[in-house]
Amino acid sequence: MKIEKSERLKSLPPYLFKEIDRQKDEARARGIDIIDLGVGDPDMPTPPHIIRELEKAANDPANHQYPSYTGMDAFNKAVAGWYEKRFKVDLDPSKEVVTLIGSKEGIAHIPLAFINPGDMALVPNPGYPVYEIGVNFAGGDVCFMNLLKENDYLPDLDAVPEEVAQKTKLMFINYPNNPTSAVAGMSFFDKLVSYAKKHDIIICHDAAYTEMAFDGYKPISFLEADGAMEVGMEFHSLSKTYNMTGWRIGFAVGNAEVIQALGQVKSNIDSGAFQAVQLAGITALEGDQTCIDEMNGIYTERRDLLVDGLRELGLTAKKPKATFYVWIDVPDGYTSSEFASHLLTKAGVVATPGNGFGTAGEGYIRMALTVDNERIKEVLKRIKETGF
Ligand SMILES: *Cc1c(COP(=O)(O)O)cnc(C)c1O
Repeated sequence: MKIEKSERLKSLPPYLFKEIDRQKDEARARGIDIIDLGVGDPDMPTPPHIIRELEKAANDPANHQYPSYTGMDAFNKAVAGWYEKRFKVDLDPSKEVVTLIGSKEGIAHIPLAFINPGDMALVPNPGYPVYEIGVNFAGGDVCFMNLLKENDYLPDLDAVPEEVAQKTKLMFINYPNNPTSAVAGMSFFDKLVSYAKKHDIIICHDAAYTEMAFDGYKPISFLEADGAMEVGMEFHSLSKTYNMTGWRIGFAVGNAEVIQALGQVKSNIDSGAFQAVQLAGITALEGDQTCIDEMNGIYTERRDLLVDGLRELGLTAKKPKATFYVWIDVPDGYTSSEFASHLLTKAGVVATPGNGFGTAGEGYIRMALTVDNERIKEVLKRIKETGF
């Protein structure tokens, strides 16, 4: 029998991390001690009080059956409570909150709720690849908004052609940003609200990194902007905040019509997140938050060690105010891929080439602060020895 993939799969953009993955496997096979700064996955464990709640909840047979499609009332209430406490944003847990099986799930599914074939979506470049792919899977077309250093990695809305804005149904944005680590303030969010109103564009803000911030900086929510609840929503995740990437729990909040449409898509596709995970998620959101400060303290040390060290070696990188990513200019004479290959094959250090996140990421590599201080010192030592 001939098995033929759908056009949807056949037309996926080329997977640009393939070459680096291959080189990584090859180096491992050669027995090289690789230091992987390539993956945005916290290296530290989930705080113990959250794990204890999972253990308890997993033992309760009431949690062994199908959960509600859109989340337990108790979890959605905990999310609303957390938004009120953290951002002073008032949410109705029954209409303006939906539980997700990780925020990636919601990001991938939301285009199915709003995009018809031929509709456009505005997507940041560089950006988290799921924005583009989710839109394409729904039959929509993507128009990229370049995030440039000279604009502090904020999109230039005036540069979007009028005919594109006319056809655009939704826009993805993400601050604090992966991969550039840029942050956004209220003046940008205010601009976004008026732009959305003018063109009837639903704003989907991916806020996965609001809690991973340093030096006293507190990222804001898009929903804090006046009128934001009329035009958009926000994705959030417990993954990065509480070292829970493997648990698959996140949520979407905001405009009731938007959230309910996403819930409708989900109720036709999945059957909700494991209740025991949701109960542990409530403990995460409502429990002691000092674990966040502790982790941010560790990331701050790692950041300073890595960025100061890279600068001493003659590389250019900004110290991130938020996220655990360092966005580094590629030195003269290399493309992003060439420099990432150089570091991997010559120094055994894995960094992510910026062009893997989109064409506008060319000229940069991304390093994640996901190894301890000793390993960061080893990274710097190796790069110094190898040169570039
Ligand atoms: C890690 C990350 C997420 C979170 O994904 P989950 O599915 O919630 O684990 C979302 N957006 C961005 C930009 C990320 O880097």
